[in-house]
Amino acid sequence: MCWQFPLLGIVVDFGHYFVHRAMHSKFWYEHIHYVHHSLNDGGPLTAYYSHPLDFLLGITAPVVLGWWTIHGDLKAFLVYVFLAQVGALYIHSGQSWLGNKWHYQHHAKLKRVYGLFGISDFCLK
Ligand SMILES: [Zn+2]
Ligand SMILES: [Zn+2]
Repeated sequence: MCWQFPLLGIVVDFGHYFVHRAMHSKFWYEHIHYVHHSLNDGGPLTAYYSHPLDFLLGITAPVVLGWWTIHGDLKAFLVYVFLAQVGALYIHSGQSWLGNKWHYQHHAKLKRVYGLFGISDFCLK
């Protein structure tokens, strides 16, 4: 079960990266993603302040598809979802994550950082 966490994290990070990057295109941003960015410094609960389609495509789909892709264990999935919720609250709080505040800066300055954990942003720069 433990090996599934880092693998699921990588799959989810890349899935979120591509959806989030697409959400910053003119059409998707103006119709969907602007809701999440309307609270530039909203604190931890900003994690859940988004258009339902944004949440479905950017958060739920990468996690479910990632779990399905790796044929993950249900317990690992549930633990991952819990940890992902804690992580989402944390990265929206302005606290440093692995020495960086990239998602917080993404909100504050619309900085071009789209992934959740920095893996995809590092690889796809
Ligand atoms: Zn964004
Ligand atoms: Zn955010």
